Amino acid sequence: MIYAKYIEDGTLCSTSDYSNEPEKYRGLIICPECDKKTWYTKGFTTEKVERMACFAAHHKEGCNASTVLLSAEDNDSEEGNESELPSTDIRVDLDKSNGQSIYVSQDNDKHGEEDSDWTSSPQKKAIGGSNGYPLNKSLRQLLTHLCKNPDYAERGQSITIVADSGRKIIDGQLKDYLVPINSIASNQLAESRIFWGTINNLNEDKNGRLWLNYGDYRTEPSILLDKNQKTDLLRNFKLKSVSELDGSDVIIVSHAGRSPNGKIIIKSSFTKYMSFRRYSAENIES
Ligand SMILES: [Zn+2]
Repeated sequence: MIYAKYIEDGTLCSTSDYSNEPEKYRGLIICPECDKKTWYTKGFTTEKVERMACFAAHHKEGCNASTVLLSAEDNDSEEGNESELPSTDIRVDLDKSNGQSIYVSQDNDKHGEEDSDWTSSPQKKAIGGSNGYPLNKSLRQLLTHLCKNPDYAERGQSITIVADSGRKIIDGQLKDYLVPINSIASNQLAESRIFWGTINNLNEDKNGRLWLNYGDYRTEPSILLDKNQKTDLLRNFKLKSVSELDGSDVIIVSHAGRSPNGKIIIKSSFTKYMSFRRYSAENIES
């Protein structure tokens, strides 16, 4: 779509309005039809396609304003046998992780025909596996499951996340640790949680810090990365520009606090504690 609604006064904002005054509109625009949060996407030209600037959104189903198809970059092999996913434990071992691949091993309670070494090393068994089931699950995969089924954790899984130091950051019922970014309660601040949700816009400030915003950056939650973390993020997730994260789903293991203005800020530590589910935009008119 080429118009968005500016929530401050209800006026329409065109793509050129936005590109003239991004600071004014960022985070404060919604789809005029379905009211979902929207973000600005620059136009670009490649050999094959020329796309105008537009606004993208995760529109409500059936919204007529939707002209850009967003498809999540889910990897088929990751999806696995979702319906057969077990309800047993998830263990995230950050020692074994780098960049975007954080392995979450998951016992699947299925037993192969062959003997294995699981009696001596249950953890190894969980990662290896002999029956072909996808045993390695990453935070990214957890995010995929949550996006498809927000009640995913109701199956009663437990989760253990271990830091490099060996300290358990998270150890218990998955559902007790999961917090949707758009509904963080006061009693969920300070302690480590697994926050997840959508980044509807982002902003780099004068100090080089990167703010990943859920919506209105003045009042709604943001994830804050310092300059070094931002550099790590670009490298580890192979991003040419941070704007590739507009509209992404995010998952982050961290703790949140409240600014003097009452805004909730999730501070990032290492980029390996976070993952993204990006969307690629396809213009159906092209
Ligand atoms: Zn819409």
